[in-house]
Amino acid sequence: MSKKTTSEKKTTKKAETKEKVSAKKTSTKKKTSTASKEKKASSSTSTKNKKAEVVTESVEEYSTGNQAEINIGTIGHVDHGKSTLVKALTGTFPDTHSEELKRGITIRLGYADTDIRYCPKCTGSNKWTTFATCPKCQAETKVSRRISFVDAPGHEVLMATLLTGAAIFDGAILVIAANEHCPQAQTREHLAAMDAVGIQNIIIVQNKVELVTEAEAEKSYKEIVKFVKGTVAEGAPIIPMSAIHGANLDLLIETIEKVIKTPKRDEKVESRMFVARSFEVNKPGTIPEELFGGVLGGSIIGGVLKEGDEIEIRPGIRSGRKVEPIKTKIVSIHAGTLGKVKQAKPGGLMSIGTDIDPAITRSDSLVGNIIGKPGKLPPVLDEIELSISLMDFVVGLDEKTKVKNLAVGEQLMLNVWTAITLGQISGIKGKKITVKLDRPVCAEEGTRVAISRRLAGRFRLIGFGNVV
Ligand code: GDP
Ligand code: MG
Ligand code: ZN
Repeated sequence: MSKKTTSEKKTTKKAETKEKVSAKKTSTKKKTSTASKEKKASSSTSTKNKKAEVVTESVEEYSTGNQAEINIGTIGHVDHGKSTLVKALTGTFPDTHSEELKRGITIRLGYADTDIRYCPKCTGSNKWTTFATCPKCQAETKVSRRISFVDAPGHEVLMATLLTGAAIFDGAILVIAANEHCPQAQTREHLAAMDAVGIQNIIIVQNKVELVTEAEAEKSYKEIVKFVKGTVAEGAPIIPMSAIHGANLDLLIETIEKVIKTPKRDEKVESRMFVARSFEVNKPGTIPEELFGGVLGGSIIGGVLKEGDEIEIRPGIRSGRKVEPIKTKIVSIHAGTLGKVKQAKPGGLMSIGTDIDPAITRSDSLVGNIIGKPGKLPPVLDEIELSISLMDFVVGLDEKTKVKNLAVGEQLMLNVWTAITLGQISGIKGKKITVKLDRPVCAEEGTRVAISRRLAGRFRLIGFGNVV
């Protein structure tokens, strides 16, 4: 996250330090990808021109690189190596919040992007890399496409965050440690979440293989195959890896190129961006004239957004009992770690600077909103009707627990695109339920909604529904 903030505008000291640290780490590893070069470049400018950068956002040059085309989510049980894998692929360790580092878990969605490259001289999986120079033959590599990673929190209480992220995934990498029995609770739960949100393109990484014997690796492999049978990941490629040593990284990159293709994007449809993060980038004590407006991060799902566009954010902000849409203007756009761009298209995580009060966007407060051209967004609903499909058993619980029927008056947690809301069931008719929402959401017919119910102290995923 602070990575994003720093690419927005190098304002927070912590973020700058972090950026320097990661650039230093990268250089000791002789990483030569464009991304890390950019990181090094930006960390040196941030020291030299610190003062100027705070006030003159507009002098930042536009990037000529290509925006990331897809978001890949990393999912799986805590400590199985998701963040380490993202680091191996991108050079950036995605846990950037100090709170996360303290607790040793990714609380919010982590983020990093990289160019996927290939060597014109090498063949087979050998040719795939993220480095500008081929690690095998030293030839100069070529860019295939830029991709981004959204790193999910592995901790059990953070399922809602995962579901928010899943709304913008084009595919997912399920990381399973070879040195533990499979499935662990969140391995099962995260895979079920992919099912609930409708993510089809899945790659399984059997990680930490260097810690086990060949016989143990074989046993773990069989457990994985058995576990994914009958799920959305049945038949998905399983790649044995050691993320920490970067072993089989080329094979993983090749598989990403084959399995998680860039979907056909229609730039002509109404522009729509799902907000997955929102923040303020000003340092405490910044004088009002120098305040940078609220920043919203997320992915464009259709159409394009350009600097200078008038936009609407829905449902918007709560004022009293009502929720009011926000109208504002796009002041700047940053495409992941690529930097500033004039226009953004569907694909990787990006962020837009606006002229709204930064206090409104602080601490992810606008997550779940949708951005588009004024008057063109789906309706804001206080109550939704869903055609539902419940699972047979609750995932994420150690004992096998049947999913009981829903009841009128029951409280549910719903994930609607990137929005999370609680609501009470106000009516049930066969496979259809009506839910009165505590917080209105923007949705339309067909929108897929993940349904969770409170069980054993927290919300557990029990199925999904489609808005009717
Ligand atoms: P996450 O919770 O799934 O994001 O897991 P992390 O990426 O934070 O990794 C958890 C721990 O496992 C860290 O101590 C990593 O250094 C370690 N780890 C990750 N990948 C590997 C691997 O391939 N081999 C070994 N031995 N350790 C690993
Ligand atoms: Mg992690
Ligand atoms: Zn080569």
